[in-house]
Amino acid sequence: MRTVNAIAATSATDPLVRTTIERRDLGPHDVLIEIRYAGICHSDIHTVRAEWGRITYPQTVGHEIVGEVTEVGSDVTGHAVGDRVGVGCMVNSCRECENCKAGQEQYCLEGNIQTYAGTDRDGTITQGGYSTHIVVNQDFVLRVPESIPYEAAAPLLCAGITTYSPLMHWKAGPGSKVAVVGLGGLGHMAVKIAAAMGAEVTVLSQTLSKQDDGLAFGAQHYYATSDPATFKELRNTFDLIINTVSAKIKMSSYLRLLRLDGTFVSVGAPPEPLEVPAFALIGARRSFAGSNIGGIAETQEMLDFCAERGIAPEVEVIDADRVNEAYERVLSSDVRYRFVIDVETLR
Ligand code: NAP
Ligand code: ZN
Ligand code: ZN
Repeated sequence: MRTVNAIAATSATDPLVRTTIERRDLGPHDVLIEIRYAGICHSDIHTVRAEWGRITYPQTVGHEIVGEVTEVGSDVTGHAVGDRVGVGCMVNSCRECENCKAGQEQYCLEGNIQTYAGTDRDGTITQGGYSTHIVVNQDFVLRVPESIPYEAAAPLLCAGITTYSPLMHWKAGPGSKVAVVGLGGLGHMAVKIAAAMGAEVTVLSQTLSKQDDGLAFGAQHYYATSDPATFKELRNTFDLIINTVSAKIKMSSYLRLLRLDGTFVSVGAPPEPLEVPAFALIGARRSFAGSNIGGIAETQEMLDFCAERGIAPEVEVIDADRVNEAYERVLSSDVRYRFVIDVETLR
C-alpha cells in the first residue's frame, strides 16, 4: 500500500478537503500513474452530493485522469515507464459477458467497476483522480497522443468519449442535423466532435451568452431555450439531439424538434426522471435513448480522432484549493468549458 495526497468529500454537504488515501500495491497487470491533471465532471458533483444515491465517505472523485506511468507490474505489456496515459470512468469489468467481449465494457452485465465510488475486486471502494497517483489494471489505461497537451487531454476521458460514442452510434456526419442541448463540459465537446464529423450542428443553450464560443467550436446555429420561439421555429428539424443537461428538462418540447425517425439521446443524468409523453414520440416515429461513456477501444479511437483532427477541450486549469469554488461555478453554468485540477498543487 502507498499513501498519497488527495482531495475528498466527507459528506454530501461539506466542502471537499485535502486528505490522504491508500493505493494498492502493484499487481502483475497493474500500472502506477503519477497524475498530472484531473478534470471536474458534473458527475463528480452529483456523486459527492449523493444526488444519485448514498455513497460512503470520505470519497475522492475524478474520472478524467491523465499522467505519466512511473511503475509497471511484472506482466504489463501495453504500457511502459514514462508513457503518457489516461484513465476514464471505469477501471475494470468482468471481460467475459457478451457486452465486454463486444468491446462495450461500459455496459458490462456484471456492472463495470467505476473509477470512483465503485466496489473494487478486493471489496474496497474505488477512489478517483483528484489525487497524486492511481493504480489501474493495464487494460483500462489509455494512450494519450503526444500532440494533445496533458491538461487538454484530461476531459477527453469522460466528456470526449461520452459525446463521441453516441455521435458515432447514431451516425452523425455530412447531411445530418445534430442539436446539442447545454454548452458545458460535455456539450462543448459534442459540438466540436459533431462538427469534425461533418454534421450541421445547432446549440440549444439557456441563453445566447455563449453564442460566439459555440459558433467558434463549429456550430452553424445557436438558439436560446429561454425563448419560446426557438421551439416553434425548430420543430421537426433534427436527426439527432444530444442532451447534456445535468437537470430535468421539458422533454415534450425537445422531442418535437426531431424530424421523422430522429433520436433524442440523453447523456445528461439528472437525478429526477425525464418525463416522456408518448405522443411526442408517436407523432414522428421518434426515439428516446440514453448512452453511457464508451468502451475502452472506442475511447482510444476517440483520443486518436481528436489528435488527428486537432480537437481539444477548452479548459480552465485550477489549483487544488479552488475545487469547491469550481463546483459552485459548474452548478451556476459558469464553466468555460471544463475545470481541470493541476495535480502538482496537491503534491
Ligand atoms: P456541465 O459542464 O455542468 O454542463 C451542463 C450544461 O447544461 C450547463 O453548462 C448548462 O448549459 C446546461 N444546464 C445546466 N442546468 C440547466 C437547467 N436547469 N436547465 C437547462 N440547462 C441547464 O456538466 P457536464 O459535466 O457536461 O455533465 C452534464 C451531465 O452529463 C451531467 O448530468 C453528468 O452527470 C452527465 N454525464 C453523463 C455521462 C454518461 O456517460 N452518460 C458522462 C459524463 C457526464 P447552458 O448554459 O449552455 O444552458
Ligand atoms: Zn464524467
Ligand atoms: Zn462484462
